[in-house]
Amino acid sequence: MAEDDFYKRLGVSRSSTQDDIKKAYRRLAKEYHPDRNPDASAGEKLKGVNEAYDVLRDPEKRSNYDRYGTADFQGINMDGFGDIFGSIFRGFGGFGGFGQRGRAGPPPGQTLRMTINLTFEEAFFGTEKEIAFRRKIKCDYCKGSGAKPGTQPIRCKTCGGQGQVVRSMGGFMSVAQTCPTCRGQGESIDTPCSDCRGSGQQNERKETKVPIPPGIEDGQGIRIQGGGSAGQRGGPYGDLILMFSVKPHKEFVRRGLHIYMETDIPFSIATLGGQVEVPTMWGNSKIKVKRGTEGGTMFRMKGKGVHSQDNRSGDQLVRVNIKIPRKLNKQQKEYLGKFGNVFD
Ligand SMILES: [Zn+2]
Ligand SMILES: [Zn+2]
Repeated sequence: MAEDDFYKRLGVSRSSTQDDIKKAYRRLAKEYHPDRNPDASAGEKLKGVNEAYDVLRDPEKRSNYDRYGTADFQGINMDGFGDIFGSIFRGFGGFGGFGQRGRAGPPPGQTLRMTINLTFEEAFFGTEKEIAFRRKIKCDYCKGSGAKPGTQPIRCKTCGGQGQVVRSMGGFMSVAQTCPTCRGQGESIDTPCSDCRGSGQQNERKETKVPIPPGIEDGQGIRIQGGGSAGQRGGPYGDLILMFSVKPHKEFVRRGLHIYMETDIPFSIATLGGQVEVPTMWGNSKIKVKRGTEGGTMFRMKGKGVHSQDNRSGDQLVRVNIKIPRKLNKQQKEYLGKFGNVFD
């Protein structure tokens, strides 16, 4: 049986650096390699190690794993986008890691970004949002090639299809440059497609529903691979990035899965003890106040926070303020006076 925890599989701690993880992986991959290890369970172990490494090597997947216990917490499927993998990230960290090239061929299409506004309740319980946006898709007629159907793009004569030309700088120095004739695409079109005039793209207004899991926080985003625009002349699709803006609540503040709030309790209950009704996102609920409770005391209401998709639930933390009576009638003054005398 493989160890459940990915960190344990690699024998590293949760705070290890990417470098530590890489080293641990290399060591274990050698140790369990079937050529070296005749043990029957070694193959299975190697599989487990590979699976763990695949997640922990990628900072984004690793952070999802740390937060949600799984790397693909966001297995979002948007109809019409086909097999899409979305991943949750916070801030701008998640914007890196795509758009790299280093191969000949048409560059990827535009990555599209949009902001989705959520109410506090929608972010708390999860919801489904309809979004509409414009993007480029592959031209239907030429299937994105940009060449008239029946014809083929021809290999670029300048670079021989490499997309790059090497220019000598004199001596032993030379520099690889993007081919000026095909602009790095490696091919050119003799007879352009009549529908898209050679771009390989057509416009689409996309409307779709996006499932929003419970527990999205303000400033978080989902990246949907391939959800953006198609590249020119058959270039791959860019991504779609959805950023969330969550409206604050009047009473509640959310941090992760927990809810924080403050409530006033009467002086008499703080002194004598009793029950107080407190609002939660799940409806009103009671807390037991012990006799002699002081202002600033925190109460934990278990399970009244966010219930996440992977079955974890947060709590509500309530800080109580003691309400000191300000306006008193004659009788109340009398009683409090007596109360004071008893304690003197
Ligand atoms: Zn076309
Ligand atoms: Zn070329």
